[in-house]
Amino acid sequence: VTGVRVLLVEDDSELAGMLAELFSSEGYAVEVASDGQRALHRGLTGDYDVMVVDRGLPAVEGLDLVRRLRRSGRFTPVLVLSALGEPRDRVDGLDAGAEDYLAKPFDVDELLARLRALTRRHAERAERLSIPGGSLDLGSREVTTVSGDVVPLSTREYDLLVRLAASPGRVFTRSELLLDVFEDAEADGVVDTYVHYLRRKLGRETINTVRGLGYRLGRA
Ligand code: CA
Repeated sequence: VTGVRVLLVEDDSELAGMLAELFSSEGYAVEVASDGQRALHRGLTGDYDVMVVDRGLPAVEGLDLVRRLRRSGRFTPVLVLSALGEPRDRVDGLDAGAEDYLAKPFDVDELLARLRALTRRHAERAERLSIPGGSLDLGSREVTTVSGDVVPLSTREYDLLVRLAASPGRVFTRSELLLDVFEDAEADGVVDTYVHYLRRKLGRETINTVRGLGYRLGRA
């Protein structure tokens, strides 16, 4: 696993230290975040191959952290560690967007095996989302059209398109998109502006206007 980058999110400093040492000894490059807010920032700006996330965290709770990363188009595989190990708790973890869930106390060898499985699957999976007339590469943030043209997107164009493409059947209101994608903007108009940019780059059919409701990904 040499060079595989792990973000470990754990507020219990003793456990964090133990796990960081364990992961390092297995060849992972480990970074530690001690609360959900820091982890969110790193998850959004850093480039990790896998994340190990404690569920009970200060600032931003573990499952909320996973949801927020997914909503922002970050699909780094996540393994959740939690003292809550009932079937319902696991379901909540997977529904939040985590790939795997391990109850505390856990067996160290099992944790390492699951981590290897996650990184292996991640490396094998093509990281693309389908969009009308092409596909969006989540690594390079470029759209490849069916005719083979590569169209680079700006950060905000990408964020907006990922949000729509991650739930292709769903209609999003403008205020929902404003909140999810343009956190620091105030007026709904910014959503329309970026829809316009995306249509200009990728074709009108990429995003449908649902009158009186909002927007959704167009039909392929
Ligand atoms: Ca904790």
